[in-house]
Amino acid sequence: MPQTKFLLDESEIPKHWYNVVADMPNPPTPPLGPDGQPIGPEALTPIFPMALIEQEVSAERWIPIPEPVREAMRLYRPSPLMRAHRLEAMLGTPAKIYYKYEGVSPAGSHKVNTAIPQAYYNQQAGIKRLSTETGAGQWGSAISFAGNMFGLEVRVFMVRVSYDQKPFRRSMMQTWGGKVFASPSMETQTGRDVLAKDPNNPGSLGMAISEAVEEAASREDTNYALGSVLNHVLLHQTIIGLEAKKQFEKAGDYPDMVFAPCGGGSNFGGVAFPFFADKAAGKNVRLVAVEPASCPTLTKGTYAYDFGDTAGLTPMMKMYTLGSNFMPPSIHAGGLRYHGDSPLVSQLYHEGLIEAVSVHQLATFEAGVTFARAEGIIPAPESNHAIRACMDEALRCKQTGEKKTLFFNLSGHGHFDMASYDKYFAGQLDDHSYPEELLQASLANLPKVD
Ligand SMILES: *Cc1c(COP(=O)(O)O)cnc(C)c1O
Repeated sequence: MPQTKFLLDESEIPKHWYNVVADMPNPPTPPLGPDGQPIGPEALTPIFPMALIEQEVSAERWIPIPEPVREAMRLYRPSPLMRAHRLEAMLGTPAKIYYKYEGVSPAGSHKVNTAIPQAYYNQQAGIKRLSTETGAGQWGSAISFAGNMFGLEVRVFMVRVSYDQKPFRRSMMQTWGGKVFASPSMETQTGRDVLAKDPNNPGSLGMAISEAVEEAASREDTNYALGSVLNHVLLHQTIIGLEAKKQFEKAGDYPDMVFAPCGGGSNFGGVAFPFFADKAAGKNVRLVAVEPASCPTLTKGTYAYDFGDTAGLTPMMKMYTLGSNFMPPSIHAGGLRYHGDSPLVSQLYHEGLIEAVSVHQLATFEAGVTFARAEGIIPAPESNHAIRACMDEALRCKQTGEKKTLFFNLSGHGHFDMASYDKYFAGQLDDHSYPEELLQASLANLPKVD
């Protein structure tokens, strides 16, 4: 019988994270302060603990994972690598398809992989409260879970539309002790200013970030936690790709192509960067970030310095961006609706070392339903983006007869997204392309930096 699950022992949970900076052909571009000059690490101390700031700027290839973090991750790691025999048969493809399943974490997605170390380092630094934002609710769930593990109070600014649409995500956060506020909220100056002008503002990720950063910056006992985009977040997520490489060894195989959904870039970087190390050493492996056609940051955005949030409270980072005022249409893959992308992913893409494709919403749900009927697991709408692109490649292989090895990151399950599957079945979803006029208007407001 051919093997379906490739499993590792708990003792094989990696002991180090992999830092891609060590293998990049050029050093990363620095974040800039309000004066347009590179900021030093000290500019970040009001909102992050020093251990995370050091990781943010580190060029060391291997960074040790603290033992209490490895211990906490034993609740769900190592995650399985699966061979999708049934999907291969259903598609009639000669390609081999593998996926890494991150939905086994308590909160149901890969985001717990960075929530645990972030909570740990903040607790070690004597911090009592974390403030953060959440769009679709996965990050808020992950950090509420991890904060509770390390005795921290977690305050989550949840984008208003999601707060109203996804009450069960809110219930999860509350179950783990998180406090959830609809953003824009009355808790911060940023929120009060927005509500004064527009009491029905539906919120955006950029706006919720402004609220969370404002709160963290104004209180000694409170730090900020971000679930994607930053270097240290992608570093923590490399545990996915590092485990996968050991599992491929056990399978006696190696991927020709790696796919991951791409919002802020953390699960893509997490799964792809350890394979990039091999690519930098001469191996032939293609790394493909998959994004929604309605929020096509890498494929249609501009590579420029921009703010991470709407109010311009964060440092400016050089990244592919749609402009920090870009309001993406409300597609159901809420976790992919961010205007920017990780500076590390952006730089590698700009240098032609990784690839990106965009896919339409209906095609992603079609892929997700096919996957569920073949493999059983119901994927998160975000994960469906990677499944779509991987299936398209498997179908190309069917045409050409190529026996490629394809691998995607199944970043999370869709158990709290069933309302969006219902809408898909009822024919109530459509294919938004990105609104060109809005994009041009938003890009016209990019900060001027030379
Ligand atoms: C948040 C999320 C994503 C996208 O986020 P990245 O920052 O690009 O990793 C993808 N899948 C799931 C299930 C998520 O929760």
